[in-house]
Amino acid sequence: MQYLSTRGKTPPIGFTQAVLMGLAEDGGLLLPRTIPRIGTDTFASWQKLSYPDLAFEVMSRFVDDIPVSDFKDILNRSYATFAAPDITPVVHHGDLHILELFHGPTLAFKDIALQFLGNVFEYLLNRDNSALNIIGATSGDTGSAAIYGVRGKARINIFILHPHQRVSPVQEKQMTTVLDDNVFNIAIRGSFDDGQAIVKKIFNDREFKNKYRLGAINSINWARVLAQVVYYVRGCLHVSAHEKDSSIDFAIPTGNFGDIFAGYIARKMLPPGTIRQLVLATNDNDILARFVTKGDYSQATVKITTSPSMDIQAASNFERYLYYLLDSDPSRTRELMEEFTKNGKINLSGYHDQIRRDFAAVAVSEGEVTETIAAFYKEHDYILDPHTAVGVKAAQKFKTVGVPMVCLATAHPAKFAAVVEQTIGKSLDVPASLAGILDKPSRCELMDPEKGKIQAFIAAKVGTP
Ligand SMILES: *Cc1c(COP(=O)(O)O)cnc(C)c1O
Repeated sequence: MQYLSTRGKTPPIGFTQAVLMGLAEDGGLLLPRTIPRIGTDTFASWQKLSYPDLAFEVMSRFVDDIPVSDFKDILNRSYATFAAPDITPVVHHGDLHILELFHGPTLAFKDIALQFLGNVFEYLLNRDNSALNIIGATSGDTGSAAIYGVRGKARINIFILHPHQRVSPVQEKQMTTVLDDNVFNIAIRGSFDDGQAIVKKIFNDREFKNKYRLGAINSINWARVLAQVVYYVRGCLHVSAHEKDSSIDFAIPTGNFGDIFAGYIARKMLPPGTIRQLVLATNDNDILARFVTKGDYSQATVKITTSPSMDIQAASNFERYLYYLLDSDPSRTRELMEEFTKNGKINLSGYHDQIRRDFAAVAVSEGEVTETIAAFYKEHDYILDPHTAVGVKAAQKFKTVGVPMVCLATAHPAKFAAVVEQTIGKSLDVPASLAGILDKPSRCELMDPEKGKIQAFIAAKVGTP
């Protein structure tokens, strides 16, 4: 499989090069040249596969430059760290299916992609006898998942920027208590978008990028999207085992457009009609909901909510969808993204009909989030985290009789214990991986969100290559 840039100025490359490149050299995002289609019989034959075997079937169609046995080994190791035997279990409550994606080492769905990505990086660096400095921005969950994906790995350093005091205390500690020598946490005085903008700028500084061999773990990295496609397929297989021949809807709490974009790819891959509707759910940071409902993609200031991993106003994966929306026209994609960078908005109302065919969307208010957590607990004795609650609220709104609805449960409620406990009036059981975490020793650097300063910090820690 070859990978192309959404902005059309990067020569086609293979999967492993795409993983190492992260952001395309022309500033675009990498996409596979085609999306492989899965026939009905093939899809049905996957019903009984284990998670790693299913991951192999789905992902290997996009990867032809890692030998089969090595790829299988990477996948087996990546999912051996999960606490649930079937990796992404599905539970049923009322008329909803809840696809639990939070059984990895850091209790959020990001582990599913980042355990894999860490192992792929390690494999490629060993193969090429080289080293990598990973740099990424996090709104809370990516950071710890990425750190757990690469901690202690030779040949890799990781630098994670998080917005100072805007992640939950547990999220912060999950990152900063990892004291391995190759892990560097930077708290920036600013928002997640500030951190993400700096990371993008550093990647666009080609000289620095090449000198320090930078690698990306943000959802701009295609490997992450790809790994996330698998659990959509898994969700469909699970539902179709119970409810034959029916189309399936998914509700996805999203901020960076990453998770929902994986669903968009899954829908293109699977037999037509397998996935019907993708419901995009945002919190009060509603840029993506406005985009779908009005064609208005315009940045507002970031609001702080109880679902901090979605407090985002510039969705880094949006460009991938935009490219498809524009009929895979890289010049037009480049023009519009440059316009967005300059003005903070683009008007896509001309594409409204297509956008509405691709997604349904709603923004969920803070009041609705706590109401949903409380009501779901009362009715079903099941505790939602605030991100999952955003998706569940949206699912309730768009649920159609006779069409199964799968809600992606993106984090364990204990990661956001304060708000959840207050809402349900009961303290949560602490999962083993979080026991005592708030009192553990930690390490973190507080810095201004300035590209030059962050680059100097990286250079000082890495030394001159
Ligand atoms: C990152 C995250 C999201 C949003 O994921 P996107 O890739 O931005 O769609 C939702 N919930 C949780 C818990 C997260 O960590």
